[in-house]
Amino acid sequence: MRTVTAYVSALDLFSIGIGPSSSHTVGPMRAARVFAEDLRATGRLGEVQRIRCSLFGSLGSTGLGHGTPDAVLAGLTGLCPETCDPNEVRGAWSGLTAGATLTLLGGHSIAISAQDVRFEPRTRLPGHPNALTLTAWAGDSAAPGAVPVLEETFFSIGGGFIRRGAERSSVQTSVVQPLPYDSSAELLALCDAHNLAICEVARRNEEAIHGALALNAGLDAIWEAMHTCVEAGLTGTGVLPGGLKVKRRAAAVRMRLEEYDGQPLRDRDTSTEWLHAFALAVNEENAAGGRVVTAPTNGAAGIIPAVGHYYLRFVPGADAAGIRRYLLTAVAIGSLVKANASISGAEGGCQAEVGAACAMASGALCAVLGGTPRQVENAAEIAMEHHLGLTCDPVGGLVQVPCIERNAIASSTAVSAARLALHGDGTHLVSLDTVIETMRQTGLDMMTKYKETSEGGLAVNVIEC
Ligand code: SF4
Repeated sequence: MRTVTAYVSALDLFSIGIGPSSSHTVGPMRAARVFAEDLRATGRLGEVQRIRCSLFGSLGSTGLGHGTPDAVLAGLTGLCPETCDPNEVRGAWSGLTAGATLTLLGGHSIAISAQDVRFEPRTRLPGHPNALTLTAWAGDSAAPGAVPVLEETFFSIGGGFIRRGAERSSVQTSVVQPLPYDSSAELLALCDAHNLAICEVARRNEEAIHGALALNAGLDAIWEAMHTCVEAGLTGTGVLPGGLKVKRRAAAVRMRLEEYDGQPLRDRDTSTEWLHAFALAVNEENAAGGRVVTAPTNGAAGIIPAVGHYYLRFVPGADAAGIRRYLLTAVAIGSLVKANASISGAEGGCQAEVGAACAMASGALCAVLGGTPRQVENAAEIAMEHHLGLTCDPVGGLVQVPCIERNAIASSTAVSAARLALHGDGTHLVSLDTVIETMRQTGLDMMTKYKETSEGGLAVNVIEC
């Protein structure tokens, strides 16, 4: 047995947090909290008078629209994305007034002003396009020769995962896994050798980390949080924050569908429209800064819950055990994308976020519809292949346009890819490994302005009013 390098636990890849962005909100909040913990561990917390934060690269470009400064301040006070009240985070920085103070994790209060968070979009640190440096000062930071109490740089590498400047990997498990794999070819070979479904390979690895009881409880909690998010989004109304005046649509779509489905004479199948409504619901909740499950990112958080709800509502025999298999299959695929390419829009464009989520949902749906491991791999490959080259160009730096609709459309693609794969026998020309590698290369070739900077594409062609 060897330590898994590709596999990321479902309980990490699907993390319960807040919107609107896993890399620009959740990750920086976690980084700031880690910094606050480290600061307390120095034993010099009481000396600290000022903390400054520099947001580099994509965090500097679109951090304002993604609520990054709010998240940093919330993290410094000790709030966690998993448990915080989103209302406590929203406005933490943007609502600062003259003479404001911030009580750090550990109970020490310091003066804080909006200028303590700096945006440096033109500076890209080697390591990742999403970087932030936090510096704590005991006195005047402008004094000649001033030495900070603590300075740390973090990278927010997508999906809410963070990496310290010196670390090689954010995913470090010391647990030896029973069924390790680094590629879809290895994963399929394991399925063949042990006569297992993909979700069963994932389960064996997960149980080595968490044990069966904690794993099942964790999966159920993740699904419950996804369901709660869908329900909240299907009733939410009004205009999304940020200034684009984007109206929430999911609730209106739900009401029209309920009315239509209640009629005795119906001449159309509304399953696809419901699928779209589920995705819109999640992404509108995300854009509103609500409670959301990173899957595998926040911008792409609607696809996996939407396809899961489609399965439960429209597939005969669907049940809670199927949802566990659905989530485990999705994470087995998502782990491959994360390890061998990227799930970060700032690194690979939207193909890495929505493309990854679509591949995960498609393969997972194929599995719970009875697909073989090769059909599942085929479904994920089809879904990813038709997102290759997709850029990230959010208008106004907000996770709204094109992100919300894009999740609805990608949910349809996920269902179509699963159905298409089920018509074959699993043999196909382009492997999932090949398409993931192609996505990685395409991300490297993609111009920076199309990677979560809001400096290209729709972001510069849509007039903000
Ligand atoms: S365009 Fe895609 S990658 Fe960019 S913020 Fe929106 S969902 Fe995320």
